[in-house]
Amino acid sequence: MTATRIDGKAFAATVRGKVAKGVAALNTAHGITPGLAVVLVGEDPASQVYVRNKGLQTVEAGMASFEHKLDAETPEADLLALVAKLNADPAVHGILVQLPLPKHIDEAKVLSAIDPAKDVDGFHVLNVGLLGTGQKAMVPCTPLGCLMMLRDHLGDLSGLNAVVVGRSNIVGKPMAQLLLGDSCTVTIAHSRTKELAEVCRRADILVAAVGRPEMIPGDWIKPGATVIDVGINRIPAPEKGEGKTRLVGDVAYDSAVQVAGAITPVPGGVGPMTIACLLANTLTACCRANGLPEPEGLTA
Ligand code: NDP
Repeated sequence: MTATRIDGKAFAATVRGKVAKGVAALNTAHGITPGLAVVLVGEDPASQVYVRNKGLQTVEAGMASFEHKLDAETPEADLLALVAKLNADPAVHGILVQLPLPKHIDEAKVLSAIDPAKDVDGFHVLNVGLLGTGQKAMVPCTPLGCLMMLRDHLGDLSGLNAVVVGRSNIVGKPMAQLLLGDSCTVTIAHSRTKELAEVCRRADILVAAVGRPEMIPGDWIKPGATVIDVGINRIPAPEKGEGKTRLVGDVAYDSAVQVAGAITPVPGGVGPMTIACLLANTLTACCRANGLPEPEGLTA
C-alpha cells in the first residue's frame, strides 16, 4: 500500500481562498477590512522571511498589513508600548509578535500584554485556558492547520486513537487539546515516554512535532494510519552538491509512505497551512470584534 499524499500547499491555497472570500464579503456588507499587525524585533534571517511572507499573503487575502520592524536593542518597555498601541487601534484585529525575541526581552510578559481578542497566535494564557476548557479561543495556527487537514481527509475524528509526539506549548499541547475537542482518544508522548514505538503503533492519527530528522520510521506506524508531520529539519544533502542541505520532517517519509494510509510531506505539508491559519484567525478575530458570525470551516 502506498499512502495518499496530503497536499498542504494546495489545501493552504484553498483556505486562503476562503479567507479572501470572507474578507471581500465583510468589506462589501459592512465596510470593514480586517487588519493584521506583525512585529519583528531584530534581524533574524528566518524570521525576516516569515514576516515578509505573512505580509504578502495578508495583502493578497484583501486584508490590511501593518509591519513594525524594531531593532535588536529595542528595550522591552518600548515593545510593550507598541503592543499597547496596537491593542487600542481599531484598524488592527490581529497582533503577532514574531518569536524568538532577543534575550533581554521577557517573551511571556510580551505575549500576555497582547489583547487576547487580537492574539491570532493563540499563545496568550487566556486563550490557552479557553482552549483547554473547550471554550471559544484563538487557536495556535500550526495545530489548527493540522486539525483542518485531518478533518478534510478523515471527516469525523471521534473515537480515533490519536498520538501526538511532542508537548510544546505552540504545537504538541494545543494539538492534543484540539484532537480531544474532536473526541479522539489522545496520548501525548515526549522525550521521557517509554516504548515510544509501541505507543505510536496504536495511533490511527499520528502527529509528529519533535524537531528530530526522520526519527519516526515506517515500522512505528499502524497500517492505514493518517500521519501529520509537523517537523521541519534541515539536514546535509551531499547528493545535491557540497555544502547543500534539504528539509525533512520528523517522520522517515520513504518508509512511512509504504505503511500509512495518508501522510503529509515535508516540505509542502503542514508548513504552508500555518500562515493560511494565521489569516483565518485574523478574519475570525475581526468577525468576533464586530459581533458578526464567524467564517465557516476556518475555526476549531
Ligand atoms: P520543541 O523543541 O518546543 O518541542 C519538541 C518536543 O519533542 C518536546 O516536547 C520534546 O519532549 C519532544 N522530544 C524531543 N526528543 C524526543 C524524543 N527522542 N522522543 C520523543 N519526544 C521527543 O519543538 P516545537 O514543538 O516548537 O517544534 C517541533 C517541530 O515542529 C520542529 O521541527 C519545528 O521546526 C516544527 N514546527 C513546524 C511548524 C510549521 O509551521 N510546520 C511550526 C512550529 C514548529 P520534552 O518535552 O520531554 O523535552
